Amino acid sequence: MMSTPNAMTALQAKGPTITKVEVLLTRKHLKSTMRISRGGFKTRQHALVKVHTDSGIVGWGEGIGNASLVKTIVETYIAPAVLGKDAFNLVALRKQFLHDPVYFERKGSVLCALSAIEMACWDIKGKALGVPCYQLLGGLGQSRLPAYASDVYWEKDIKAVAANARRIAALGYKMIKAHLGFASADEDTARVRAIREAIGPDIKLMIDLNAGYDLMEARRAVKLWAPYDLTWLEEPLAPDLIGALAELRRHSPIPIAAGENEFQLHGFKQLFEAGALDVAMPDIGRVGGLLETQQICALAGAFGVPVSPHNFSSGILLAATAHLMAATPNTTWLEMDTSGNAIYLELLDEGWHFENGFLTVSASPGLGVTERAKVLDEYLVAA
Ligand SMILES: [Mg+2]
Repeated sequence: MMSTPNAMTALQAKGPTITKVEVLLTRKHLKSTMRISRGGFKTRQHALVKVHTDSGIVGWGEGIGNASLVKTIVETYIAPAVLGKDAFNLVALRKQFLHDPVYFERKGSVLCALSAIEMACWDIKGKALGVPCYQLLGGLGQSRLPAYASDVYWEKDIKAVAANARRIAALGYKMIKAHLGFASADEDTARVRAIREAIGPDIKLMIDLNAGYDLMEARRAVKLWAPYDLTWLEEPLAPDLIGALAELRRHSPIPIAAGENEFQLHGFKQLFEAGALDVAMPDIGRVGGLLETQQICALAGAFGVPVSPHNFSSGILLAATAHLMAATPNTTWLEMDTSGNAIYLELLDEGWHFENGFLTVSASPGLGVTERAKVLDEYLVAA
């Protein structure tokens, strides 16, 4: 018998029921150096969350930050509480883990763990309804996203820093971000100059200090580095120094970007009200999920601030970020990782295309993530 329109509505009024939540902790040893202002590290870890439903549909998400902690929080706190729940009901999920526990959990790894589940539920919803997530988030505003590469790292050998910048430019990127600040502003001026000379005047250059300087050193940096035509200086100060960041921005000839370590809409409201940002950088895997990020983007729009979401983890966060950007007009500049150090493009399905510095978003249902057992098995950390 053919379905009537009413029957279709009834079928979709409720989503599939969550039956199981798994967290795959993965670890990959770095292929190249990753030294930022706060020091170097040897491995990348991801907490990849897989939400199963009674329909057989599986959704993928990830929470960033401390992957082991995110795994524990999902397994011991969130997973037991979402079993039997409607995977479509993102409002209920947000009420239960974002709004109701406000006495206890305003920031921190619990929010990252919630972000992972929320992301996975969007994936489930898209797959169940047969539409890509950008359709659920408002529609396709832009399908080709201008991407920048985030992979020049501090090295003692200045020639090696410049060579890495040249490698990335050869991949077709028109925007490159370098992580400096392991040395003083005076010392790192030679690195800024070497990168600019290596890539020429036509490629945009951003510098990320990963919260490595204090206000006095950051003031010195913006003065010394202004001649090198920087698109932005990112996270010069510790994330809690909102007043100091606003003070720096008031006098800085270089635009200021920050926000990757902030949580929730309320956290960004403080940054905007203080006048601390030229570019906002919420991370979907930290702020509370896709819906929270879209609300942050709306608030950023009301303050006239463009959004370049922080996107530095696995291919799952990349997919979620791209769908958000596709559906959210005041987002621009997609962060991408060309280092090979993360589990990355191998998690995306065939619908994605990268060419000449632009990523085209997959139109397949959900987030466009695919499970390749070999990929995950290789990096899975035994429980
Ligand atoms: Mg950053």
